[in-house]
Parts: sequence; structure tokens; C-alpha cells
Amino acid sequence: MAETIFGKILAGQIPCHKVYEDDRVLAFLDINPLTRGHTLVIPKEPAATLDELSDESAAALGRVLPRLCRAVMAATGVREYNVLENNGPGAHQAVFHVHFHIIPRPHANEGLGLRWVQQSLAAGDAAELVKLITGALQK
Ligand code: AMP
Repeated sequence: MAETIFGKILAGQIPCHKVYEDDRVLAFLDINPLTRGHTLVIPKEPAATLDELSDESAAALGRVLPRLCRAVMAATGVREYNVLENNGPGAHQAVFHVHFHIIPRPHANEGLGLRWVQQSLAAGDAAELVKLITGALQK
């Protein structure tokens, strides 16, 4: 995997505003926050996208994410927030090291902008997708 800016932060080559660290996870403030308190949570494992991450790192992230969300909301006094994790440049990923964004949403017009255009789930396709996904999970 290519060296990333987050790899350099983990290696101590560049600084960050650290808010949390354990054996497998680091959390720090986003350098260009969408809103005050915008925090990034990353595994120490150098995986580019979530599907490449080990179960151990995934478990470590999952264990601390709710606690970090509570802390960011307590610190900012904001009650609503988004947790975002982008995978691939087409999905808005700019840094190719897994990272979860915790983005406080203090007002409707501040924070993560979402374009949520829904389609109908066709009955025939649902059955096919269930078959394909459950099959892939067996591998
Ligand atoms: P994404 O589009 O999901 O890859 O988001 C990458 C995020 O990393 C952006 O929100 C950037 O502002 C943030 N970022 C980039 N470099 C740094 C850095 N050195 N320290 C903290 N955050 C950073």
C-alpha cells in the first residue's frame, strides 16, 4: 500500500491534534473540518478501504467509535452527527487509509451534505442479491 498522509501521522513524521490512541486505533481532529469537532478515527493497520481491514482492527474501531462520538458531542454540545467512511475516489475518498469521520451537525445547513436519491428495490432483484451476498459471505 502506498504511503499516505495518515501513515505519516502514525509514524510520527507529521503532527496531528490527537484525541485518542490505543494499540490499534488513533483519533485526531480533521485539519479542514466540515463543522467544529470533526474528528477522524483510523486503524493503525495500513488498509486503504474498509473491505481490506482485518477483523481485529475492525473490532477495535467498532469498540471505540461510540465512545468517541459521545465525547465529540459532549465537547461540542451538539446532539446530532454523521459517521462517514468513504471507499475509493469515486466515493469521495481522498486519503487511502481507512478513516471514519465523526461530523457534528449543529444545524440543518451545517455539516455533511447528503444527496440521497432512492430507488425501488425490485422483488426479483432482491432475491438475486440475497443469494449473491449470502454466497459471497461463505467465501
Ligand atoms: P476522505 O475524503 O474521506 O478521504 O477524507 C479525508 C479527510 O482527511 C479530509 O476531511 C481532510 O480534511 C483530512 N485530512 C487530510 N490531511 C489531514 C491531516 N494532515 N490531518 C488531519 N486531517 C487531514
